[in-house]
Amino acid sequence: MNIAVYPGSFDPITNGHLDIIKRASKLFDKIVVLVAINNEKKSFFGAEERVKMIRDSVKDITNVEVESFDGLTMRYAEKIGAKALIRGLRVVSDFDYEWKLAAANEFINSDIEIVFFMARHETSFISSSSIKELYSNDIDISSLVPISVVEELKKKI
Ligand code: ADP
Repeated sequence: MNIAVYPGSFDPITNGHLDIIKRASKLFDKIVVLVAINNEKKSFFGAEERVKMIRDSVKDITNVEVESFDGLTMRYAEKIGAKALIRGLRVVSDFDYEWKLAAANEFINSDIEIVFFMARHETSFISSSSIKELYSNDIDISSLVPISVVEELKKKI
């Protein structure tokens, strides 16, 4: 079985992430969306909230699972026997960051392939940080994120 891990902060999940998940789910037998618990990077939503919002958003895609992990993504991928890591690219500035991250991951285990999906034009401007910024300035973001994110943001802000 070809398993791929899609790691990220997902703070919160956006329609950009969801588009990558849907496209990747057609290429792999199983996708594990992995919420990184990274104590150094202060997150707005707790890990459990982020997992819950993603689970709600992917409930209709049968071959997608959602987990959280505190540690190196590559170690998690090895543990579950994944063949690939998935990441997304929007703009050139993403490339610089992703290039370094991919090099570090390749150093850990070069047998697990890192697969990049280019953002679709209509979601390429969406980021988790812009969602929080727009929402806190009273901009309607309901067309940019899954419904569960709108609900959680309402509770929080
Ligand atoms: P991280 O904090 O690990 O960068 P993110 O949750 O911000 O995690 O993003 C996870 C991955 O999804 C990254 O590779 C990022 O470039 C990608 N991504 C984020 N938003 C989009 C989008 N709108 N379209 C395509 N890829 C995206």
